[in-house]
Amino acid sequence: MDRYAVLGHPVGHSLSPRIHAAFAQATGLELEYGAIDIAPDAFTQTLDELHTQGYCGFNVTVPHKLAAHALARQLSERARHAGAVNTLLRVKGGWNGDNTDGTGLLADLQRNLGLQLAGKRIAVLGAGGAARGIIAPLLETKPAQLIIANRSPDKAQHLAQQFAGLGNVTPSIPEALAGENFDLVINATSAGHRGQAPALATGLFGSDATAYDLNYGPASKPFLGAAARCGATHTRDGLGMLVEQAAESFRLWRGLRPDTTRVLAMLRTG
Ligand code: NDP
Repeated sequence: MDRYAVLGHPVGHSLSPRIHAAFAQATGLELEYGAIDIAPDAFTQTLDELHTQGYCGFNVTVPHKLAAHALARQLSERARHAGAVNTLLRVKGGWNGDNTDGTGLLADLQRNLGLQLAGKRIAVLGAGGAARGIIAPLLETKPAQLIIANRSPDKAQHLAQQFAGLGNVTPSIPEALAGENFDLVINATSAGHRGQAPALATGLFGSDATAYDLNYGPASKPFLGAAARCGATHTRDGLGMLVEQAAESFRLWRGLRPDTTRVLAMLRTG
């Protein structure tokens, strides 16, 4: 049986084994999917050992996304843009790297939430690895404007420069977004893991605006709570993105994109 796993450090909290077991059951495809904790300095060596044990694909999470990017012998365009790899696929002689985070976010925003992004004004809060992975896919939807706002302005500037050729993208800091009336504000910071929300300026949200947090579970509560108090009409956590990026990884490995609706509903009910 083909073997797959999510690689992280720590990784015990990961929902990916449940998600992929549900996909396997729904599609009738037989596979084994586990969670493997790898210390950062052992990543490359462990990957080769796992291949000899029958593993042919991985999801990659914190802190290994850059290491996976570095070792991939071939990168998808999405992974090149993101500068990080969250999906590895075994090919002859090595591993191909892809990044399904941006595709997963768009699937959740457009298909699950029914948002139209063309012509809309979007703010991304944060300029770390997750932000880097979603900028190019967001710009492909042709928003009127995309602002990357980060508490460390240099990182936002760097990202905006990197993606300037793909659309109207400008750097900022969260405090400078007062009165901007965005249609969609995406929290791509990790502040929620410390019970915090990034600064939300007065007038950040326009009428009928959506606040979307890449985080889910307790880590999404600070931002989504603050966003609702600051005038966001709709709030949504990143659980749907997690399931959708997993479905895209599953498609890369097995050639079939599983239906995500029931899996997302299962996770939401606990
Ligand atoms: P990084 O560590 O690469 O970046 C963290 C970002 O958050 C930086 O921009 C940092 O700002 C900012 N930040 C951290 N703390 C604060 C704070 N207190 N106030 C304001 N800004 C803050 O993390 P990632 O980009 O990899 O991940 C971001 C989040 O997205 C994580 O919480 C992760 O769990 C989630 N995620 C969810 C996914 C999903 O499928 N739903 C997929 C990928 C990620 P600075 O540069 O100033 O330090």
